[in-house]
Amino acid sequence: MSQRTFSIIKPDAVRKGYTGAILAEIEKAGFKIVSIKKISISRAQAEGFYHVHAARPFFGELTEFMSSGPIVPLILEKKNAIADLRTLMGATDPAKAEEGTIRKKFAASIGENAIHGSDAADTAEFEIGYFFAGYELK
Ligand code: GDP
Repeated sequence: MSQRTFSIIKPDAVRKGYTGAILAEIEKAGFKIVSIKKISISRAQAEGFYHVHAARPFFGELTEFMSSGPIVPLILEKKNAIADLRTLMGATDPAKAEEGTIRKKFAASIGENAIHGSDAADTAEFEIGYFFAGYELK
């Protein structure tokens, strides 16, 4: 049965012109792009999205980074989408990411790491709803 997950091409990757290359990796891995847009978000919007990390020492850096330039939020669909996207992304720290993963290819550091992907079904549902309205869910 197919599953939906939520992803963001982060500001570092958009700034460096990697959007198309990352989308190609995603499609090559068998994901259908259900919805896509390019937007900029405020610091407060980034804080709302990452509320589960509010107590972490990097919260300030993370929310400043995520509001530093355009991002590309995505809804993706395939069988086992949530786990498979996490595998395709690679480890949070690109220095530890496996060969062939998006973070290995396109990320520079643990903070500026090119891509976000939901880590579970309940977070995917919250994250899709945070960035996409009902009429954008095809
Ligand atoms: P993910 O699920 O692999 O994205 O990783 P986490 O859920 O642990 O962290 C969320 C995001 O916070 C990561 O993707 C990074 O952008 C950022 N982050 C995590 N750890 C650090 C850190 O040590 N420093 C900074 N600046 N950002 C971090």
